[in-house]
Amino acid sequence: MTCIVCNAQLSDGLSDWHRTCRRCAYEGAALASAINHAETQALINEDAREVALRALRQQNFRKIVALARQHAAPEARSLLDVGSAHGWFLDAACEQFEAHGIEPDEAMARRSAARGRTPRVGFFPQVLEPGERFDVIVFNDVIEHIVDIRAALRDCHDRLPTGGILVLNLPSSSGLFYRLSKLMARLGLRGPFDRLWQVGLPSPHVHYFAPENLAKLVESEGFALRHHGELPVVSADGLWQRLNMVGKVNPLYAALQYVVIRAVVMPLAKLFPSDIMVCIFNKR
Ligand SMILES: [Zn+2]
Repeated sequence: MTCIVCNAQLSDGLSDWHRTCRRCAYEGAALASAINHAETQALINEDAREVALRALRQQNFRKIVALARQHAAPEARSLLDVGSAHGWFLDAACEQFEAHGIEPDEAMARRSAARGRTPRVGFFPQVLEPGERFDVIVFNDVIEHIVDIRAALRDCHDRLPTGGILVLNLPSSSGLFYRLSKLMARLGLRGPFDRLWQVGLPSPHVHYFAPENLAKLVESEGFALRHHGELPVVSADGLWQRLNMVGKVNPLYAALQYVVIRAVVMPLAKLFPSDIMVCIFNKR
């Protein structure tokens, strides 16, 4: 196996499915996707997940829409959200753009449609009309799941005008929590590392990028980096609901966790690179 960024030979990583590039620090995984397979789908309680993640996601999505508007041409109108999930990004984007979503997971697409954001059901770019183009294409926590990422980038290039905007919001291998999970995996505690790669879930991650190797990959497919930033992984907004989401939680224990996260984890995390990066490119 060779590195998709720099073509160097990949080295064995921290698991039999994990590979790393010693030259550019790209990380890859040989993990299979099982979207629309009922068995793995049932592992996720979507209601609990939805409540727990909503506040943080919505806050981050408003920031991403503002960045897209800032970097797009003033006349840019049409936006495509690839993997639009619950439709929360579409909620934020439709205030600034004519926003369209596509979603491969049929159950998720039905949930989105029930709240008034009806996506086209299928994969990018097969579900699009031939020659259909957009001024802005957005991947929120999606690109790291796509095995042939270079083909996806070329499809984006075909579907954007010159100067069109590509937004990638994805996990960062420079992030504090990912680096801690690797340290723990080396000590034999594999749980957090497997969890961050989403091992055993319907759509595991197959890539982990740092800001530098991601920019190198995307720029080699005809884009120029316009902006690189970070988004918070934990937010005070919705944190209480997040701690109380699973079954019957002891309120004292939840309160203790809340205080530790607000007083220790959040200030500490601010000192290190975040686990979520957002990169804005435009088509050259
Ligand atoms: Zn490499």
